[in-house]
Amino acid sequence: MDCSGCNRCTEINCSIDTKCQQLDRSLMDQYGAISFPIYQTATFAHPGLGESTGYDYSRVQNPTRKQLESIVGYLENGRDALAFSSGMAAIATLMELLKPGDHFIIDSDLYGGSVRLFNEISLKNGLTYTSANLSASDIRPLIQENTKMVYLETPTNPMMNVTDIEELSKVTREKGILLVVDNTFLSPYFQNPLDLGADVVIHSGTKFLGGHHDTIGGFIVVKDEEIDERLRFIYKTTGAILSPFDSWLILRGIRTLAVRLERAQENALKLARFLKFNKHVTKVIYPGLEDHPGYEIMKKQARGFGAMLTFEVDSEEFAKSILRNVQLIYFAESLGGTETLITYPVTQTHADVPKEVLEKNGINERTLRLSVGIEGINDLLCEFGRVFAIAEKEVNG
Ligand code: PLP
Repeated sequence: MDCSGCNRCTEINCSIDTKCQQLDRSLMDQYGAISFPIYQTATFAHPGLGESTGYDYSRVQNPTRKQLESIVGYLENGRDALAFSSGMAAIATLMELLKPGDHFIIDSDLYGGSVRLFNEISLKNGLTYTSANLSASDIRPLIQENTKMVYLETPTNPMMNVTDIEELSKVTREKGILLVVDNTFLSPYFQNPLDLGADVVIHSGTKFLGGHHDTIGGFIVVKDEEIDERLRFIYKTTGAILSPFDSWLILRGIRTLAVRLERAQENALKLARFLKFNKHVTKVIYPGLEDHPGYEIMKKQARGFGAMLTFEVDSEEFAKSILRNVQLIYFAESLGGTETLITYPVTQTHADVPKEVLEKNGINERTLRLSVGIEGINDLLCEFGRVFAIAEKEVNG
């Protein structure tokens, strides 16, 4: 196979595992540093009047950030990636593509912060939206004359609904509507929405890309030149950029994306199967289980099933007891790191989602979300065995 002309390594189209190791050679410094340097500078000296090194001011561009943007764009098969100070900064900037009077369609199950942004900021800015379960509905009746964007996650946070991106993109393309996919849950290691017909990919870089719960960042990846130029303009104007140090942390995180995700996914499947057999667990939602309604779509559009799973227990007291008693697992928000985290969506990630929306999506006080890490699986199973035994005693006496 011919080289795809990526300014990187060799003469072959690399596997995604190899791509994670490949810096953009055209952006490397004169010493060839393989741990790409942190260019901790706000500004750059000009060689002469009207001349530039290619870098003028770090809000506009910085070498460390550029190297990171290059690899994220490469992993997502985009023409460009823009690195932001958080995932929310990326989404807020994306929404600046729309103007007052425009309408957009969102999946009803999304990260709570995105829902808060749409409700508290987008509406105020004169936009309107329609929300629907995009994994189950035909989008055509929802489209209005002024519909400009469809925004979704697949799998969704936290209910793991799976939408067929390729099918949906046939409609958005025909109607000239921008299709945006938040790919945070699977990362480019498992899924590339741009290849399936999406126009824009969003990432919370805080999660699997960073991979260590030590930095906050976000990305927009695009394939269209005009959208790219518009976003670059909004980006330099509003300034929610990623710092050089945080860029470096995510660059480093990406090096191990493949091995982390393979191991975490293996653990997630074993945990999902284990949880299914507990008498207090009423539901396990993991798209890698064959009975998940999105299983076949996942097999078609992704290279794996990820490391996120949601489960429901038989009482609120049981759920709260689990949260009180975990020791090896951390009770914390966020996802995508090497440690397993357990999250309580109703009071954490989805606290700002209106109650009726939560109810409709099936999220309640018995719902728990797991971001499965890379610990030894037997230790994770042991932890659950211990915590379930305590919960049974606490709740049933
Ligand atoms: N998208 C998804 C799916 C998320 O889970 C999150 C955060 O949890 C975000 C976006 C926002 O990212 P950040 O926390 O980096 O702002």
